[in-house]
Amino acid sequence: ILSANNIFKRYEDLQVLSGVNFSVEAAKLSAIVGPSGAGKSTLLHILGTLDQSDSGSLSINGLDISNLKGNELARFRNDSIGFIFQFHNLLPEFTAAENISIPAYIKKSNTKEVEKRTTELLSILGLSSRAHHKPGQLSGGEQQRVAVARALMNKPAIVFADEPSGNLDSKNAEELHHLFLKLRDELGQAFVIVTHNEDLAEMADERHEMKDGSLTRI
Ligand code: ATP
Ligand code: MG
Repeated sequence: ILSANNIFKRYEDLQVLSGVNFSVEAAKLSAIVGPSGAGKSTLLHILGTLDQSDSGSLSINGLDISNLKGNELARFRNDSIGFIFQFHNLLPEFTAAENISIPAYIKKSNTKEVEKRTTELLSILGLSSRAHHKPGQLSGGEQQRVAVARALMNKPAIVFADEPSGNLDSKNAEELHHLFLKLRDELGQAFVIVTHNEDLAEMADERHEMKDGSLTRI
C-alpha cells in the first residue's frame, strides 16, 4: 500500500536521506529505529506527504503522490493518512469526541456517519466515559488514545507515528503498544512507527534502522 524508491533529501549542506527504499503492507507494524539526527522524522514526514523529497518516487494506495497538487494533496492526506506525534497535538478547547471527529468534518463526511464512527472509536479505545472531556481533563495515556482515535477517523491506509510513547510512563506506553497490535489484528491497520522504545521495536513485524542516510532491515 506504500512504496518509496530512492528518496533523497537535504537541508542546506546536510544530506539527510540518500537513497531510501521502503514499502508498507496492510496489517503490518513497521518500526524505524536509529540515532538522534539520523533523519527518521524527516523520512516519516516525506512518507506521510507532509514534506517533499528532493528526488525519488512515492506511491500510496497505487497513487503516484507527485501527481497530486496543493489542495488535492491536502485532501488525500486528510482522507488516507493518519498521524500520531510524541505530543498529542489535540485542540485544547475541543472535547475528546470533537477532536476525534475533526478529520471527518474536513472530509465533509455525513454528520450521522461521523457521530457513529466517533462513538465506535471511543469504544474501541476505551474512551467512552471520557467523550465530553477536554484534553486538559484527561490523563496523558487518555490524551494519546484520543490522538490515536483521531488518526483512525477516516480509516486511513497507513498510520504514521513519531515517538508515540516517548511522553508516556511505562505502563501507559505498554498499553498503547498493545493497542497498536490490536488495531493491526482487528482492523488490518498498517503502522509505521519511529521509536526509541525497545519493547515496541521488539513487537513490530519488521524493524528498519536509519543510518548514513538510508534504511536497512534489521
Ligand atoms: P530524533 O531521534 O532526535 O528525533 P531524527 O532521526 O528524527 O532525530 P530528523 O529530525 O529527521 O532526525 O533530522 C535529521 C537532521 O536534519 C538533523 O541533523 C536535523 O538537525 C536536520 N533538520 C531537520 N529538519 C530540518 C530543517 N527544517 N532545516 C534544516 N535542518 C533540518
Ligand atoms: Mg525525530
